[in-house]
Parts: sequence; C-alpha cells; structure tokens
Amino acid sequence: MTNKPDHFEIDVKCPRCHHQAKTRVGWIRTHTQMECESCGEIIDIESRNFRSRDEP
Ligand SMILES: [Zn+2]
Repeated sequence: MTNKPDHFEIDVKCPRCHHQAKTRVGWIRTHTQMECESCGEIIDIESRNFRSRDEP
C-alpha cells in the first residue's frame, strides 16, 4: 500500500452490482471483508476488488 494516512478514503468495487463503496485505509488494515451496502454481497477486500493496493 502507498503511504496513505488512515483516514484516506479508497474505493472498493462490488463484483456483483458494481457499487463502489468508500472505506478508509485504517479500516482496511483491520478488516478483510466488507458488506456491500447496495446489494449485501460480501466483498473480499484483499482481492482484486480493492483498488490501488500494491503491497504483497
Ligand atoms: Zn453490491
């Protein structure tokens, strides 16, 4: 990950309905999944759905 501050917002795209959920870098660090607020899909934020992730 880039050196974003914890409050920096990123987009996580739902693979099911393509809704883009905004969440924060600090939240991502302590979670691996989030629920889509649009369709209820569980989004794996460790996967390709998490945009701009670049650390191993
Ligand atoms: Zn969705």
